Amino acid sequence: MQKLVLVGGGHAHLHVLNQLRENQIKGVEITLLSPSKYQYYSGMFSGYTEGFYTEDQMKVDLEQLAAEAGSAWLQGAVTSVDPVRKTLRTEQGESFAFDVVSFDVGSMMAGMKTPGAETYALPIKPNFRFVEAVEEARRAQRVLVVGGGAAGIEISASLHAWRQKHEMHGVVTLVSAGPLLEQKKQRITSKMEHLLQQKGMDVRTNETITRIDKNSVITSTDQSIGFDALIWLTGPEAPDLFKHSDLPVDEKGYLLVENTLQVGEFPFIFGAGDCITLINHPDIDKAGVYAVKQGPVLYENLKAFFENGKKETFVPQNKYLSILSIGNGEGFLLYGNLSLHGKIAWHIKKRIDTNFVKQYQA
Ligand SMILES: Cc1cc2nc3c(=O)[nH]c(=O)nc-3n(C[C@H](O)[C@H](O)[C@H](O)COP(=O)(O)OP(=O)(O)OC[C@H]3O[C@@H](n4cnc5c(N)ncnc54)[C@H](O)[C@@H]3O)c2cc1C
Repeated sequence: MQKLVLVGGGHAHLHVLNQLRENQIKGVEITLLSPSKYQYYSGMFSGYTEGFYTEDQMKVDLEQLAAEAGSAWLQGAVTSVDPVRKTLRTEQGESFAFDVVSFDVGSMMAGMKTPGAETYALPIKPNFRFVEAVEEARRAQRVLVVGGGAAGIEISASLHAWRQKHEMHGVVTLVSAGPLLEQKKQRITSKMEHLLQQKGMDVRTNETITRIDKNSVITSTDQSIGFDALIWLTGPEAPDLFKHSDLPVDEKGYLLVENTLQVGEFPFIFGAGDCITLINHPDIDKAGVYAVKQGPVLYENLKAFFENGKKETFVPQNKYLSILSIGNGEGFLLYGNLSLHGKIAWHIKKRIDTNFVKQYQA
């Protein structure tokens, strides 16, 4: 029996497991390793925060999915890989041998080295920590969300809407180092800022947090902002595990893979999702949509590796649809430089997200 280890229950691995439910790979023993039995789907985080979804609706039971796929599930966070000995090490000091390994471990949160962030920011990653963080932020008097990208906007706006519905006093403040949705055209960033301000949120742009103390942060313009709960959503950062392994990484520490999702030097090592950089497309966003689209290529190529079949290549799309949930059942749809705001956008998002996650639930 050959050993395939899937590390992390990210989007692409969900697809691989789903395929294995019906099309098992003969002569291969599969193990899924992840720190939690559950995978939480980030596309539904904002809807959960606003109270539209229950926890059960947005999570996938990895142990059960693995069992249905004929795979074992073991709890463990991988901390390093030895590509020569073909072994993995976990946080608990265990060692796992593999013939083929695939990584879909997501990313970490950037900026956590800001003094005080590790101590005072509510941890969100890995994603199973999200529910606890939201519970705390809902109850807090003053909530501060840091990060003016899609995640920061969605979570601050959804928290604001939830708190209004539950007649909670106290303000939700969103702080962004640049303009909101910085990579978009100015027309879009201004529209978003205006919408959030209209809802009564305190939005502060072009302010970088330089220090965090117990109940306040200091910004680059020497302002002090008080908080009782702090959520840090400043974008992705490479996980440490590849930096601690003898593997090719880009300058940020993401695993470098070919278009077949394999490491060139070690073709028995695969990767997908936020944790990789494609050598031929190094600039694509770290977004769930790419992790989802890589799933079918990853499954076919893992199978082809064992069966000496033909490999597929992953070609990322130039533009992708993203819909931000901005509270009160409103969505903000973005496609390239197009934007559309309203209830219809939220309903499209709801349909896409619920259909996605249902495929992997019991
Ligand atoms: C609040 C928020 C909202 C977002 N909303 C959207 C959205 O609407 N649309 C969108 O496209 N993107 C969204 N994103 C970005 C999206 O979450 C990521 O791009 C996406 O989750 C990446 O998917 P992935 O498959 O790479 O990994 P993930 O979905 O992060 O899954 C990683 C898995 O690996 C496990 N893991 C982590 N470390 C280890 C380890 N060391 N060993 C073993 N297992 C490990 C985790 O527990 C988890 O099971 C959002 C992000 C946030 C923070």
